[in-house]
Amino acid sequence: MKRRHCLVLLMIAIMAAATLPVHGEQPLTAGMSLAWLMEGNSRYLQGLNNPDLSPERRESLAVAQHPFAVIVGCSDSRIPPEHIFDQGLGDLFVIRLAGNVVDTLALGSVEYAIAELGVPLVVVLGHEGCGAVKASVRSLLDEAEAGGHIADLLDLIKPSAESVLQSFAGTRAELYERVADANITAVIGQLLQSEIIQQGAEEGVLSIVGAKYSLGGEVTFFGE
Ligand SMILES: [Zn+2]
Repeated sequence: MKRRHCLVLLMIAIMAAATLPVHGEQPLTAGMSLAWLMEGNSRYLQGLNNPDLSPERRESLAVAQHPFAVIVGCSDSRIPPEHIFDQGLGDLFVIRLAGNVVDTLALGSVEYAIAELGVPLVVVLGHEGCGAVKASVRSLLDEAEAGGHIADLLDLIKPSAESVLQSFAGTRAELYERVADANITAVIGQLLQSEIIQQGAEEGVLSIVGAKYSLGGEVTFFGE
């Protein structure tokens, strides 16, 4: 199956009628959040970044925060979500672990953003050339075992690598990207195991979408 088709099939997003009363009287929807992220990435690609980091913004946020999206991303230094989406203080609720994996603590952070802050959109953001994904594949194929707690991280990606390897014929570079895609989808599946997240999705107040960052700077949303 072609990657593009794969991405479309694997998209999990419930964009309709997701309305939450935040930002004063202005209703915030998952669709609006997604559009803001896309516009922000477009500005970033053009080098037009201008995030709001002003003293006025800091002051307004001292009362409360109303982030409009949760980003579950990789710790990779090249992919800071606030920069690549051109967002300022108080805009994004970010959880980052190498390989954009989630453990129970990361899940708790996502749940907090949904249950307590009313965030309507969760983006699982993987990326091209992910070192954690490569290391996980290498640990399976090359017996290149990682030491310390790095192994714990790689173990979370291994099921995706194993499932891709069952029917894969291609180059090693292609394999890494296929596993990165599968890992994004697997993390979405893990998020949906959460009762709080599942409930939000079923009620139509929460959307979860996968996305992938190319090292050239562009974010492609699954199903886009
Ligand atoms: Zn990475």
